Amino acid sequence: MIGKLLINPLDTWLKTDNQPLIISGPCSAESEEQVLETAHGLAKIDAVKLFRAGVWKPRTRPNMFEGHGEKALKWLQLVKRETGLKTTVEVANPKHVELALRYDIDVIWIGARTVVNPFSVQEIADTLKGVDIPVMVKNPLNPDLSLWIGALERINEAGITKLAAIHRGFDFFKKSAFRNAPMWEIPIELKRLYPSLPIFTDPSHIAGKRSLLAEITQKAFDLESDGIMIETHYQPDKALTDAKQQITPEALQILINNLIIRERTADFAFESKLEEYRSEIDRLDAEMIQILARRFDIIDSLGNYKKENNITILQLKRWSNILQERLENGKNLGMDAEFLIKILELIHKESIARQTRIFGSTSSPTE
Ligand code: PEP
Ligand code: MN
Repeated sequence: MIGKLLINPLDTWLKTDNQPLIISGPCSAESEEQVLETAHGLAKIDAVKLFRAGVWKPRTRPNMFEGHGEKALKWLQLVKRETGLKTTVEVANPKHVELALRYDIDVIWIGARTVVNPFSVQEIADTLKGVDIPVMVKNPLNPDLSLWIGALERINEAGITKLAAIHRGFDFFKKSAFRNAPMWEIPIELKRLYPSLPIFTDPSHIAGKRSLLAEITQKAFDLESDGIMIETHYQPDKALTDAKQQITPEALQILINNLIIRERTADFAFESKLEEYRSEIDRLDAEMIQILARRFDIIDSLGNYKKENNITILQLKRWSNILQERLENGKNLGMDAEFLIKILELIHKESIARQTRIFGSTSSPTE
């Protein structure tokens, strides 16, 4: 059951001036100098309307840099005073919300690690009752659209109508080129269900590295994202968190200059459907490659086992059984027999080649 979300239009809390909306700033607020240098660089870019910085950092392991907390909120007040930029920080609990409000933070966001936990989101929502502050909700780490919607609903039910979602990718395919798989079909479905909900894209956490940022940002705007949240740092290589994916404000300006902003067309439904098909194909290809890699791992174990037991690599009877059974299976699924034979033979050839390499090696424990 999909409920309604009561949403204020984006331009009631962030002006876009008909430009691609950019939210930017460092992954973490590290020092007054780093925050202010970065903010002054960003203030020169017209499209940047909101300055982000993490002051409480959720780290995977203890004893890493976890942010400067309240002290850093004072640096964000200086950003506002010196540059006129509005500010936003990540909050993960009621204490964070109270401090963010005390230090006049303009917008808050809830991070991917918090959105996975409905208890935490509810606690934040309860603290926000009666407060008028825009809230951005990142997608949860796992590709679960209902959990994302649930978090948006909890915040909305607390009375927050200046609401947006941030798509930062999903922890799904460990072996993909991205740090977090974009799975574009999920934010597209969110947009279909809630057309008035602004959705921003976070290319930094999707990419995990600088080289993919431009491509993801372009794609985000092609898919009618309402804006992006992108990490910048005046000295990215020295960043205490997420160094590989941060760029300088100057590099951001170049990235923006190279963007092609297309007219929004009535073809959105067509483009979305196309993207849904493509994302599904991407997902299946990635799965297929992972399955093949798993199959070859098992082949290697089998090769070693045969070698230890002095059994030959090729066992013809087994191969002809495999071929017959797989062909039958494929035919039932409507696949072309000739194509199937080709692909099975190719896999078989590679399996034999791998085992031959194993038999040729001198590291067998039985030798
Ligand atoms: C961040 O924005 O720096 C961050 C921690 O993001 P996420 O919650 O998407 O991992
Ligand atoms: Mn980060």
